[in-house]
Amino acid sequence: MKINSKKILAAILSAGVIASSLGATLTSGAAMTSSAADVKISITDNEYANDYLFYNRYRLWGFFPIPSTSKPSRYYTSEDQTFYNNALKAANYCKSLGFDPTTKKFDAYIKSNNQIQRVNSDTLYLSYAKDNSTLYTNAVGQAGSITVGGVDSSFMNPMSSVPDIIAHEYVHLVEHRVAGWDALVKQSSFESGALMEAYSDILAELSETNTDWRMGTSLFKNNSGKKKCLRDFIDPVNTYRPTNYTGARASVKFYDNYKKLKKDYPGDYYSNIDNYSASTIISHAAYLMTTTGLNKATIAQIWFDSLSEYGSNTTPKFTDCKNAVVSATNKFAAKKGYSSQAKAQLLGRVNWAFNQVGL
Ligand SMILES: [Zn+2]
Repeated sequence: MKINSKKILAAILSAGVIASSLGATLTSGAAMTSSAADVKISITDNEYANDYLFYNRYRLWGFFPIPSTSKPSRYYTSEDQTFYNNALKAANYCKSLGFDPTTKKFDAYIKSNNQIQRVNSDTLYLSYAKDNSTLYTNAVGQAGSITVGGVDSSFMNPMSSVPDIIAHEYVHLVEHRVAGWDALVKQSSFESGALMEAYSDILAELSETNTDWRMGTSLFKNNSGKKKCLRDFIDPVNTYRPTNYTGARASVKFYDNYKKLKKDYPGDYYSNIDNYSASTIISHAAYLMTTTGLNKATIAQIWFDSLSEYGSNTTPKFTDCKNAVVSATNKFAAKKGYSSQAKAQLLGRVNWAFNQVGL
């Protein structure tokens, strides 16, 4: 996750574990209040730290929430409101699938008393990258917070306004708490990093009211046909590639089949492609499940549940993903009291989708 605006859109929606920002709880803005049952969310100011040693394991840059700061002037703008609402929707969606931040608190970093501190937090912190037009043009979800950077407003809307981008980042926080997947996992194993991106994409799409199976369509202006997107799960190979200042993305090749990927890249680690290129193999499989007649709720539940099926495996491969989803499907069928015939049919659909993408 380099601070390089040319590379950023390709890397947009990155993962991780680390920090973000903090501030005032939005309980006084009428449009931003939430019911008692809602997940706690706070838009905060933040502090940027480069090359910070996280978890005593790896060095990264990060945006650290500052919970006690006075409200920045940008609070309570219409953008804040949209940002907050998108985060709330994502958090409540994950809660509906079984993730509760009050019992599975975020492993968060905040800036407090002039020190960066690690805390268990049941609050989701949202913030804007400082100097966001030049320092950071990506979105990141790590260590209990989501931070968004700037965009080229000539053709993009603010990332805070894009529901599936915010949900994607939120799901990274869920992956961290449920499966133990963090920035170190992403950096150390290609397929594991791709899986993290795939899970975030899949559950983000499913959290949308009208799931279109294309990531970030509302990021792009003048996109009535929704062909412009960051990743197209229906037809990954033909994902839109902008050719302006984010031109680095023009070279990104997305895959829809594991065998094709392995033919092009026989090894285990590929320095010349990124996790996102391979993530669409998995997200395409999730899309294909819809074509078998499975409903959104079932697909979402088995994918969410599968995050608990990796055990202590923090370097999962794509084949582990298939096994995890199949295992979760078995448990889902048992829990729902499916007949053996209905269970076999469900498993058949799930396996078929993975087979289609070469797994
Ligand atoms: Zn991501």
